[in-house]
Amino acid sequence: MIPAVMPTYGRTNIAFQSGEGAWLQGADGRRYLDFGSGIAVCSLGHCHPRLVKALQDQAAQLWHVSNLYESPGQTALAEKLVQNSFADTVFFSNSGAEALEGALKIARRYQQMAVSQPDRYRVITVSQAFHGRTLATLAAGDSEKNCMGFAPLVEGFDTVPFGNLNALRAAITAETAAILVEPIQGEGGIRVADHDYLRGLRAAADEFGLLLIFDEVQTGMGRTGHLFAYEAAGIAPDIMALAKGLGSGFPVGAILASEKAASAMAPGSHGSTFGGNPLAMAVANTVLDIMLQDGFLAHVQEVSARLEAGLQKLVETYPAIFTEVRGVGLMRGLKCGPTHSDLIAKATENGLLTVPAADNVIRLLPPLVISAEEVDTAIAILLKTAADWAATSGQDTDADASVSHT
Ligand SMILES: *Cc1c(COP(=O)(O)O)cnc(C)c1O
Repeated sequence: MIPAVMPTYGRTNIAFQSGEGAWLQGADGRRYLDFGSGIAVCSLGHCHPRLVKALQDQAAQLWHVSNLYESPGQTALAEKLVQNSFADTVFFSNSGAEALEGALKIARRYQQMAVSQPDRYRVITVSQAFHGRTLATLAAGDSEKNCMGFAPLVEGFDTVPFGNLNALRAAITAETAAILVEPIQGEGGIRVADHDYLRGLRAAADEFGLLLIFDEVQTGMGRTGHLFAYEAAGIAPDIMALAKGLGSGFPVGAILASEKAASAMAPGSHGSTFGGNPLAMAVANTVLDIMLQDGFLAHVQEVSARLEAGLQKLVETYPAIFTEVRGVGLMRGLKCGPTHSDLIAKATENGLLTVPAADNVIRLLPPLVISAEEVDTAIAILLKTAADWAATSGQDTDADASVSHT
């Protein structure tokens, strides 16, 4: 018999009862250190007191009125996002895929209405991209498995190899409207686009009159040590999608755009019943207020350096189990020798939660409020996990083989 909850997820057999900061309390009575953050969502950890208060205060006051009326919460958050990014204007959605859908619509509308290029609708995307599970974002992504059985896919996406500017330029035609990339691929295995590549995308977009769309659903909101990952490359997109960390666990997404890119977006051109709902705005405004406080991003950079050093040591100590450290800031990947899901299960048994990604990579996405001590605890658990693995697998993966160069 089919379960009451449609069986679309492979779930780990743990239920959580409560959370505080980087820690989760399991119904099994055990505590877990959370280096998954609900897949890069709980940016300020679990039940941050200021977010709890913001949500409780708003819940006692007003939940929902629709976008037929003024929204002071949306105005306040949009102004903060505009002040702290390339963008001039913001649309609020409820999720990442929805933000991407809107970003694609804005790009087509710009070409077809603002600059009178009615033939331009195609979007160049890259290999191993992930942009969500709606029909258009599936087509924009590069996972055959995710698309299986959902034909016909939305038309108008051309995939080129990630990181290859020549291939991208060669794919531009008279029908191309935009380029869409994640500055760091999350689901794809924590693959970092180098800054020259991102600058090359900007140059190609400018040369051919295309819009550059960055999917910062996972990289955004401080995760890389900058508020947005694009900042490190010294260029900016025309449109950017946000979600995950924006609400630290409350569902909310956003599309940020330059005035130029959004110039054809008029009343009636896009909408969402729930998008920018007062509860979401109360939380997201508080999230951004906290992230914009002095020292917040400096803390992310500081603990991420400690995490990177710990992960490098792990790879040096167990090079057959963990073969490579990837990523930036608090968005890290560990490429595995053995099957990553087996190691993830072992780490979970040892009290550390992580997230799988493509390419046999374990993702480490701790809350941005993680402390140096908690980083050390996570590294100690990973070392123990590798030692357990080496002991039970009986393979030549023990520390002795590699300790000489440490
Ligand atoms: C999670 C994610 C999405 C999809 O977000 P949903 O909220 O699940 O729709 C899109 N792009 C990237 C890069 C993501 O990490």
